[in-house]
Amino acid sequence: MIIIKDLVKTYNTGTTKVEALKDVNITVNDGEFIAVMGPSGSGKSTLMNILGLLDYPTAGSYLLDGVDTRSMDERQLAALRNGKLGFVFQSFNLLPRLNTQRNVELPLFYAGVDRKKRQTLAAAALERVGLISRASHHPNELSGGQKQRVAIARAIINNPRLLLADEPTGNLDSASSYEIMSLFQELHRQGSTIILVTHEPEIARHAQQIVHFRDGRIRNSEKVDQPLNARHLLEDWLQQGGMV
Ligand code: ADP
Repeated sequence: MIIIKDLVKTYNTGTTKVEALKDVNITVNDGEFIAVMGPSGSGKSTLMNILGLLDYPTAGSYLLDGVDTRSMDERQLAALRNGKLGFVFQSFNLLPRLNTQRNVELPLFYAGVDRKKRQTLAAAALERVGLISRASHHPNELSGGQKQRVAIARAIINNPRLLLADEPTGNLDSASSYEIMSLFQELHRQGSTIILVTHEPEIARHAQQIVHFRDGRIRNSEKVDQPLNARHLLEDWLQQGGMV
């Protein structure tokens, strides 16, 4: 699905040049679940921005579903972003004035989908993340974990080919983190391709593969033999008297 070849990203800031990514090569197959780790400044966000078609590489190529993204103009990139990609962020990025249902509908609203269809698809997405009962709540009436589930519903409303998550559990307590990872694992089982950035080794071990970045390069890539099962971890946590 994704072939990244000899990718380079250089930021020019006045007199200095920062090489954020240097000769990065990655192939992601359909249905894979990959975690990206690395210290701060190692290039993870830069990679996610390029994968998400929010930024251009300085050199190298990025093929998404066989299409070379270099050959596309802004309008085509926006269409690809809207149609094939779903984004989940650490800070949820929900609009506070809109209720849950409306927040989830947003990508369809921007795509010009009519109201009736937006409502049906948003309800289906909320069903998938277990939050249909909160459809008319506003973000400030939801817990952190619930906000992230709304953000995931928004990200999956278009049935994206690829789900990109940047530190999705970074603002969450343990129980909510397990819930969110359990949801990603469920989406993965249903066929979603997921790339997730995290600082936490335990979170990374929910994926099938961990790619470690250092100084803008891939240091190594390891297969996770037995990924952690978030649903079981959550059950254990609750049994031990953990708070939700
Ligand atoms: P990470 O997500 O792993 O913390 P980043 O991709 O944010 O790393 O950053 C990689 C390097 O690129 C860092 O040295 C950072 O300072 C630099 N960098 C990131 N974005 C910009 C930018 N817009 N302008 C200049 N330098 C940047």
